[in-house]
Amino acid sequence: MASSPRPAGSVDTGAAALQPRPALPYLGSYPPALRQQVQDLIDAGRLGSWLQQRYPQVHTVQTDRLLYEYTMELKDRYLRSSVPLSKVVYDPKLHIIRNALGTHTTVARVQGGKLKAKREIRVAQLFRQAAPEFLKMIVVHELAHLREREHDKAFYALCAHMEPDYHQLEFDLRLWLTWRELAPAPAAAPAHPA
Ligand SMILES: [Zn+2]
Repeated sequence: MASSPRPAGSVDTGAAALQPRPALPYLGSYPPALRQQVQDLIDAGRLGSWLQQRYPQVHTVQTDRLLYEYTMELKDRYLRSSVPLSKVVYDPKLHIIRNALGTHTTVARVQGGKLKAKREIRVAQLFRQAAPEFLKMIVVHELAHLREREHDKAFYALCAHMEPDYHQLEFDLRLWLTWRELAPAPAAAPAHPA
């Protein structure tokens, strides 16, 4: 997918100027060459089919209860000794903030006169419609935060321990988010031109 770079000093004109290119907000931390490959895929109108081919399924973890069980199964396997998890839910109010794929919070509550901290994981509602691989990636990411606060080497090592394909999946998930934002809503899709 190599493409020749635009000559230095050239100016966007005509149609290109009227259609500013999306900034690929979900891919900001990846190298420019990789971002260019993604842009080429988008320009060729092939990102959707590429994703569809690679990730054809939607997972079956469709309720909060199933999500909790799914998460606990992974936690018991890899992080049995870390802090208890009081709640795992899909959150319809959670917007995908750039570079934050989910949230993990410690909720402090007063119980019987004592302040108790509980860990909760919230997964953005839109991941209900995701491929099973992407759901696992998100849950692995948030579980790793039970032990590692920052996105540092130790954090990613733990992610890769739980899901060996973690890095590829995080990249592909960001492609999926990019594609979702570019795709017109089904109802708004234009009819075939005559
Ligand atoms: Zn994180």
